[in-house]
Amino acid sequence: MILTINCGSSTIKYQLFNNEATQSVASGIVSRIGEADAYFQHQNQTETVKESRSVPDHTVAFQICIDNLLHPTYGAIDKIEAIEAVGHRAVHGADLFVDSTLIDEAVIAKLEACVPLAPLHNPANLIGIRGGMALLPHVPHVAVFDTAFNQTMPAKAYLYALPYELYEQHKIRKYGFHGTSVRYVSERAAALLQRPLSALKMVVAHLGNGVTMTAVAHGQAVDTTIGLATFSGVMMGTRSGDIDPGLIFHLHRQLGLSLTEIEDMLYKQSGLLGVSGLSNDMRTITEAAQAGNGRCQLAMEMFAYMATKYLGAFAAAMGGLDALVFTAGIGENSPEVRALICQNLAFLGLALDPAANQQAVGGQEMAINQVEDKTAVLVVPTNEEKMIALDTRRLVSSKNQA
Ligand code: AMP
Repeated sequence: MILTINCGSSTIKYQLFNNEATQSVASGIVSRIGEADAYFQHQNQTETVKESRSVPDHTVAFQICIDNLLHPTYGAIDKIEAIEAVGHRAVHGADLFVDSTLIDEAVIAKLEACVPLAPLHNPANLIGIRGGMALLPHVPHVAVFDTAFNQTMPAKAYLYALPYELYEQHKIRKYGFHGTSVRYVSERAAALLQRPLSALKMVVAHLGNGVTMTAVAHGQAVDTTIGLATFSGVMMGTRSGDIDPGLIFHLHRQLGLSLTEIEDMLYKQSGLLGVSGLSNDMRTITEAAQAGNGRCQLAMEMFAYMATKYLGAFAAAMGGLDALVFTAGIGENSPEVRALICQNLAFLGLALDPAANQQAVGGQEMAINQVEDKTAVLVVPTNEEKMIALDTRRLVSSKNQA
């Protein structure tokens, strides 16, 4: 069996897959680690359990994961040796990793070197890797990087037009985000279209609380909306998306806001929440917009307009478009947002089938374009855990064959 671990600063998500990584047999989360209201939730194929627990630190949280997997009634395995490999989500591998990799001390050192680029995420990932290796020391561990997929972007796409030394000396460039999700979704999209990935130009619209649009040509990322930090591109739940950087100086000099206050505003008080004044949640925004709330209507229109603009830009950058692929919470579940994004795209040979668009909610893979259209529009539910498990299987089998 293959165990996947996604370790954040106060949560550990885990999922157990069969050896082929084709089927999930159990999954769970230990949440609010270190807080008074910590709990775990765990499910196998028949049962779901949720329980409050004292979880003072990640070591205890790991033990809870293993205890749950071994539990006589709601577990999934009867001995820990059933776990043959572990795949870890790793957020930032900078330009040091172009693919997933088996973890050794040298890999851990490189991940540590990437901490300044992802100060919130990489330390938590490292805790997960060390904790997992301590609990399961005799099996291979694999790191799967969010940034790896975007490493194929050409320099003209990943560089900022800044003094070149900033890139050379401080690795300041665009890295992208959600790469594991985009890789999974683009592979599934090609399978759904029954065409080789190498023959397709697509834009993957990962529209969730965080938003990334990625141009994928012939199976490789060629451009993406997220840059060095995680707020450029399309507006998000609470993040602004693209702004004129001059605004930061203006907010500082004219309104007297500190850098910390501006950062907090751009990351936590902007996006859907900032424009609507109501919520960061697209469901709430959509309901309020339908009930006539003008600010919510505007928030939806702005969100869709920004997405449409990037779709056009990436189609031009790739010199064509075979498929637009929607994924993540909003992409998979909101016919309203998908319709807004696609409303003016007939010039790209792309139009939605309204009935199929309405039908595509709640987790099925399907095409939602009109059949005669040149450009396909697909909804593909993302599954980062499965991609991590598949990579883990791939690397472990090539290690065994070597
Ligand atoms: P994620 O980050 O992928 O979990 O996505 C979270 C976002 O998906 C939130 O903005 C949710 O409001 C949105 N979402 C989930 N379900 C729906 C739905 N049925 N309609 C509209 N938005 C949804």
